[in-house]
Amino acid sequence: MAAGLRCRLFRWGNFVGVGMLDAGRYRIYIGQPSLRVASLPRRAYNGPQRTRYAMPRQCPIGSRDMQLSDSKLFRQQCYVNGEWIDADGGGTIDVTNPVDNAVIGTVPKLGADETRRAIEGAQEAQKEWRQRTGKERAAILRKWHDLMMENQEDLAVLMTTEQGKPLAESRGEIVYAASFIEWFAEEGKRIYGDTIPGHQRDKRIIVLKEPIGVCAAITPWNFPAAMITRKAGPALAAGCAMVVKPATSTPFSALAMAELAERAGVPPGILSVVTGGSSDIGGEITSNPIVRKLTFTGSTEVGRKLIAQCAGTVKKVSMELGGNAPFLVFDDAVLDDAVEGAMLSKYRNAGQTCVCANRILVQDGVYEAFTEKLAEAVKELKVGDGLDEGVNQGPLIDMAAVEKVEQHIADAVAKGAKIAVGGERHAMGGTFFQPTLLVDVTPTMDVTREETFGPMAPLYRFTTDEEGITLANDTEFGLAAYFYARDVNRIWKVAEGLESGIVGINTGIISTEVAPFGGVKESGIGREGSRYGLDDYLEIKYLCFGGVQ
Ligand code: NAP
Repeated sequence: MAAGLRCRLFRWGNFVGVGMLDAGRYRIYIGQPSLRVASLPRRAYNGPQRTRYAMPRQCPIGSRDMQLSDSKLFRQQCYVNGEWIDADGGGTIDVTNPVDNAVIGTVPKLGADETRRAIEGAQEAQKEWRQRTGKERAAILRKWHDLMMENQEDLAVLMTTEQGKPLAESRGEIVYAASFIEWFAEEGKRIYGDTIPGHQRDKRIIVLKEPIGVCAAITPWNFPAAMITRKAGPALAAGCAMVVKPATSTPFSALAMAELAERAGVPPGILSVVTGGSSDIGGEITSNPIVRKLTFTGSTEVGRKLIAQCAGTVKKVSMELGGNAPFLVFDDAVLDDAVEGAMLSKYRNAGQTCVCANRILVQDGVYEAFTEKLAEAVKELKVGDGLDEGVNQGPLIDMAAVEKVEQHIADAVAKGAKIAVGGERHAMGGTFFQPTLLVDVTPTMDVTREETFGPMAPLYRFTTDEEGITLANDTEFGLAAYFYARDVNRIWKVAEGLESGIVGINTGIISTEVAPFGGVKESGIGREGSRYGLDDYLEIKYLCFGGVQ
């Protein structure tokens, strides 16, 4: 620890920590100097006995929030070129728990300089990594996968604490996230090239697939683990190195995965994680010519900006952007199945997924019956702290998210929609919101055009199949679409008629590592997962042999 800092003892439960005063905040360490567990403003210190109130939500050890079996997974430094670093200027960013906005810990506020060093280190490290066989890389990736699964519970607790989703969903996300590493470890052994019959008698043509080089990933907060492994898995398997910038709200999942990658034997520089100002880091990533590919998951607005920034150095880009998923229920649907699918698609992660059903379109003949069943199911949802048993819906990520849901509800109600369930902030306060169902929603309302990204389902009515398909496609987005029907002719017609990269037919869950995930229109470019997911990290080189006698 730096000399010259003022020390105080902080006590809570059975634990005592040392608080080091630095830039107006106490950085609190427990057990060993490297394990910083909290950051408190100077005014929080009331003496060693009376500071207890300030700690429970901020201490990962001993508090019910973050009881990690392996406390070293809670990293508050960035992982760059195989070293755990602070920002050059010592700046940090507080990371809060959306349940009560309490500070969980801090991460370094890196900028362009540290990011440049990460990129240059990646370039150096990649030279040797690309020479390894697919099988050699696969062995390390497999180990990384196994370590994630061995530490599934700790990773899930970290995720729920920083992101808010129920623990069961976090556990599921860790399995899903690890599956991409396992899948691409295997696929990396099968990066086959091609031979093409020559165009002249003395010519032979061979096609090689080579790693594209240094890649950068910028990821969102709604899936803090999976959105990283969906990118790092194929990149590393293909022989590339990657610099990851996770969302500022959820960096601890990324840093814990970097810790496990290090333990698995991923060489220094092959995977770096940088946290800090998005424009500074993003500016360096997009302008640095060493970076040959940017893969981004996030909003369409930021995606557009990054595509423009990448144009200067003509980088390859993959963009997993926003959605506005239609969910159609046809007259011949099995209604109980459709309700189950709608609940999973709409309310998972408090409605904060890019493939969330954003518009539920119901055919005339079943509109009333479906509405009644869905309303019953929505009323059953239990809202609370994601770490509590039986909770189905946690808090939203921040107050701006709450305001967006409120704005969509107010706009719809002003234009004639009715609230069937919920409609307001939850009694728990903060960013908790009631699971909400609106009926009689029409295309003129704001929710028709924009992602709500919250726990509100709007129900629209349609009459003919053609009308349903037209309404579904009436958006600039095209990520996921869902529909429930039984007639096989209708199923083919609708599946082929929907303008989206993914179509769920009689299911509300479509994500898996074995299938290509991605959007059309303004929902993105490229695919993640499946054998197609590797292509984004490969360049094609063709060898033309001449003079063959
Ligand atoms: P966001 O605001 O676009 O942020 C995503 C990432 O971009 C974060 O790491 C953010 O950093 C960073 N960022 C923001 N401005 C930047 C800039 N000027 N330069 C470089 N980086 C910048 O999106 P979000 O709110 O986190 O995520 C929600 C959105 O993601 C939704 O639209 C959702 O549909 C979409 N999403 C899409 C998929 C998909 O697969 N298609 C999957 C999940 C989510 P900071 O955190 O530091 O601001």
